[in-house]
Amino acid sequence: MEKMLSVWKTHPKEGLELKDAPVPDPKDDEVLIQVKATSICGTDLHIYKWDEWAQKRIGKNIPYIFGHEVSGEVVKAGKSVKGVSVGDHVSAETHISCGYCYQCKTGNEHICQNVKILGVDTNGAFAEYLTLPYRNSWVNDKKIPHWVATAQEPLGNAVHTVFDGEVAGKTITVFGMGPIGVCAVALCKAAGAEKVIAIDNHEGRLKFGKDFGADVTVMASDGVDVRKEIMDATNGLGADVFLELAGAPKAFNDGIATLRPGGRASILGVFPKPFEVDVTNDIVFRGIRLSGINGRKMYDTWYKTQAFLRSGKINLEKLVTHRFKLSEIEKGFDVLKRREGMKVVLEP
Ligand SMILES: [Zn+2]
Ligand SMILES: [Zn+2]
Repeated sequence: MEKMLSVWKTHPKEGLELKDAPVPDPKDDEVLIQVKATSICGTDLHIYKWDEWAQKRIGKNIPYIFGHEVSGEVVKAGKSVKGVSVGDHVSAETHISCGYCYQCKTGNEHICQNVKILGVDTNGAFAEYLTLPYRNSWVNDKKIPHWVATAQEPLGNAVHTVFDGEVAGKTITVFGMGPIGVCAVALCKAAGAEKVIAIDNHEGRLKFGKDFGADVTVMASDGVDVRKEIMDATNGLGADVFLELAGAPKAFNDGIATLRPGGRASILGVFPKPFEVDVTNDIVFRGIRLSGINGRKMYDTWYKTQAFLRSGKINLEKLVTHRFKLSEIEKGFDVLKRREGMKVVLEP
């Protein structure tokens, strides 16, 4: 049997393991993808560090191959595969939905009750090959290099969050300048936002926010009155739209407090634990529209993402700050642990 290099979460503690494993065989409705590039996501860092979230969510799945952001080439297709062929360049929609639950049947597959997530519930993309249901295979334009196409998934998250409501002519606060945050900044600008205010507590990340088009940056370090800075930048009115991509209680509360009454709050950030919010005074009486954003709408978000990439209005290449061999994956995690890079791409 053919062997491949793969990256495993084997033990319930920080770290990973590089192993040779058999190349998987696609089922009837799956394709076999030869991975050309894969990238490290925040989720992978949780899994690597084996924090509280990872222990609860993944504890019973180990040992398995993790990773989910990918671009590769289809090298084999099961007999009932449709719409994708050997030789196609593909990325993965990571939410493997059931197709029969209430959500799936009402156009909300991204929040399927029985969803399995690639590289979380199934063997993932940190390997030389992976299998994927054909319905989850998104065919990429061959003009986009694999090392860029792998970063589409976080861009998709940003597209879903930004276009949860109106953008053109709006003043928008974006909390959290990770890869999704900086993509969100770029999308807001491309879609005609009047003013985008980027907030983070890391100087290097704020600089990325600026590079991706933020009009105002606010350094959320100790002693800085973030709320005052935002109110000053919005003529005392507050922002029309607040995007939470930091997953920090302070960011959530600052964002709500600096949203004008009647504004829109779209929350994608994942918070480490429950926290206190004054719902009555801060949300209800101020008429705030609040929504949670999970994954990408299947597949509206992907078509929108593709359109932004094609138009050249979003420069995803700038997001990729580090490229390593798959076998050097530990180096990639080191970079992210130090919060030095944006997207770390691994090539087999
Ligand atoms: Zn991801
Ligand atoms: Zn379902």
